[in-house]
Amino acid sequence: MNFDLEPKYKTIKNAALDLARQIEPMAIEADGLSFVHDGVLNALKHSGLSRLMVPAQYGGTFEAIDPLAICVAREAMMATSSHLDSLFALQGIGSFAITVAGSDEQRNQWLPKIAEVDVLGALALTEQEAGSDLKAISTEISTTDGGLLLNGSKAYISNAGASAYFIVLAKEDAEYSTILVPADSDGVSTKPTPELIAPHILGDVYFDNVCLPESARLGARGEGLKNALATLGVFRVSVAGAAVGLAQAALDEAVRHTSTRVQFGRPLARLGPVAQMLADCWTEIEMARLITYRAAQMACDNPSASLNHSSMAKLAASEMASRVVDRCVQMMGRWGLEHQSKIERLYRQARPMRIYEGSSEVLRLGIAKQLLLER
Ligand SMILES: Cc1cc2nc3c(=O)[nH]c(=O)nc-3n(C[C@H](O)[C@H](O)[C@H](O)COP(=O)(O)OP(=O)(O)OC[C@H]3O[C@@H](n4cnc5c(N)ncnc54)[C@H](O)[C@@H]3O)c2cc1C
Repeated sequence: MNFDLEPKYKTIKNAALDLARQIEPMAIEADGLSFVHDGVLNALKHSGLSRLMVPAQYGGTFEAIDPLAICVAREAMMATSSHLDSLFALQGIGSFAITVAGSDEQRNQWLPKIAEVDVLGALALTEQEAGSDLKAISTEISTTDGGLLLNGSKAYISNAGASAYFIVLAKEDAEYSTILVPADSDGVSTKPTPELIAPHILGDVYFDNVCLPESARLGARGEGLKNALATLGVFRVSVAGAAVGLAQAALDEAVRHTSTRVQFGRPLARLGPVAQMLADCWTEIEMARLITYRAAQMACDNPSASLNHSSMAKLAASEMASRVVDRCVQMMGRWGLEHQSKIERLYRQARPMRIYEGSSEVLRLGIAKQLLLER
């Protein structure tokens, strides 16, 4: 068993660190926006890292999408900018259903553009009345003489207003299907959601009698939940990677501060309770990084079979990130509270990670269910 990253992952990590360093001067501005920051978008585009999000056949880096590579990249990006991390992650989350279920025509039309960041992707699952309980969605596909008709609305959709299309989960009688909806289709409109504590490109999407051809389906009728699960199988663990990066950045801030700030004649870091907090943070980050890399490696081999390990990694790392960043704020005293300081941004950005892509409570339910099944 080798716990070191293979050279190909180290190369990706270094490329992501380079990109993060490049956009660092823009990070405060970009992380405060709920629309696209052009400078960060261009830097991502020129880095070529979004090629990780599609298979080589469509202009991607590797033959198959590699969850560990995405984890390692998100770890480096999130440590510097949540805006960068989100733009990068959504290129995969918002296109994976095309990769696994799209027709040749859909793949050829969209995946090369996703790889080159010529367009942004979006995945629209959540609705006003259906969050964790996805089966409660009411957006509906009906069949007409000329093709398909889509009606309903989605809420809190990343990249809404900026993406070229939406991958939409909708009901079709008693079944669930996925459909690819170009954002400029007649009857599609978007509205920004209320600003979050950690701003994010986010909007509600409305479908009002949107006419689409039968060829807009992603996969067969009734395969919608399967497509959604396939996306989670590959990308849920990458949230854990981002959470590890965020926590590491918070600890780096706390180490810098507590090694130089002197109270009671010694650097804070030499005072027992502060040293203890530093040690606990480092230990928890290392534990989360290990479970994350392992789950991502398992997802490389078989994403759907390893979904429970991805859930464990996401649960462990996102909960850890909140604990770590809270301790780091504490260790930094009044400087931990300054608005727009690095630590304050990380503190706000850690919070949504315990809610999106499977809230901690819902993940625990799934993990416990699997545990009991295995007895
Ligand atoms: C920054 C951000 C980006 C997002 N991007 C997207 C996107 O691109 N596409 C998309 O489709 N959605 C997106 N979402 C929505 C996200 O997926 C939902 O917020 C998430 O699924 C939780 O749903 P909810 O907010 O409706 O909470 P609810 O489902 O109402 O849950 C509220 C609380 O109740 C708990 N709870 C719910 N059910 C149970 C249960 N059975 N047992 C115990 N506790 C339970 C939850 O854990 C949570 O703590 C985004 C959200 C955020 C914050």
